[in-house]
Amino acid sequence: MSSVSENLKIVKDGLPEGVTLVAVSKTKPAEMIMEAYESGQSIFGENKARELADKYEELPKDIDWHMIGHLQRNKVKYIAPFVSLIHGVDSMRLLRAINKEGAKNDRVIPCLLQIHIASEESKFGLDAGELTEMLKSDDFKSFDHVKIQGLMGMATFTDDESKVASEFGTLKKLFDETKQQYFTADSDFSILSMGMSGDYKIALAEGSNMVRIGSSIFGARNYQ
Ligand SMILES: *Cc1c(COP(=O)(O)O)cnc(C)c1O
Repeated sequence: MSSVSENLKIVKDGLPEGVTLVAVSKTKPAEMIMEAYESGQSIFGENKARELADKYEELPKDIDWHMIGHLQRNKVKYIAPFVSLIHGVDSMRLLRAINKEGAKNDRVIPCLLQIHIASEESKFGLDAGELTEMLKSDDFKSFDHVKIQGLMGMATFTDDESKVASEFGTLKKLFDETKQQYFTADSDFSILSMGMSGDYKIALAEGSNMVRIGSSIFGARNYQ
């Protein structure tokens, strides 16, 4: 039977230099996270604010916690004091709520804007037009307690690899254009978060530099 540390090593050995691994530990117990932590993994991703906050309390304080799931505005407060990166920012209202909690905690909260690239309706995210509108708005420019560090997206769940590649390619292109137009002089805008267990190799080929991998490390989940 393969262990968390063995799985982690296999995944890590397959990642090119410069690619950040977020070990997605949602639904998994503290012991499994500790096994990965003790093998050198320091970045973990969760998709529920409460679960994330509970794990933060329980586990070593030098872990970098990423919120990767859909975040409700009224839950931002649970993670605002410590979260290292929020991947799924998909509206001005959410960003405003994060900015407000950042101010309360006297910190600047790093965020990625989530872009809708899949053909499935259910996946969250902004389209290119909404992204532009957001980045141009005065409201956005007034936010001092959030820092946009890049973009995130999820491809359609399908066996059609060319479709997945084309969706990731679209996001990479949008990332480059956004960087060029709005963040040229801003070296913090550098993260392109795309790719999960089933599709990260395709995502890497399309230019991802941050992958979010759960089941290939921790095994299948019973739910979510
Ligand atoms: C669960 C989840 C992942 C990881 O999924 P796996 O298929 O287990 O690797 C990545 N990103 C997001 C947003 C998730 O919710």
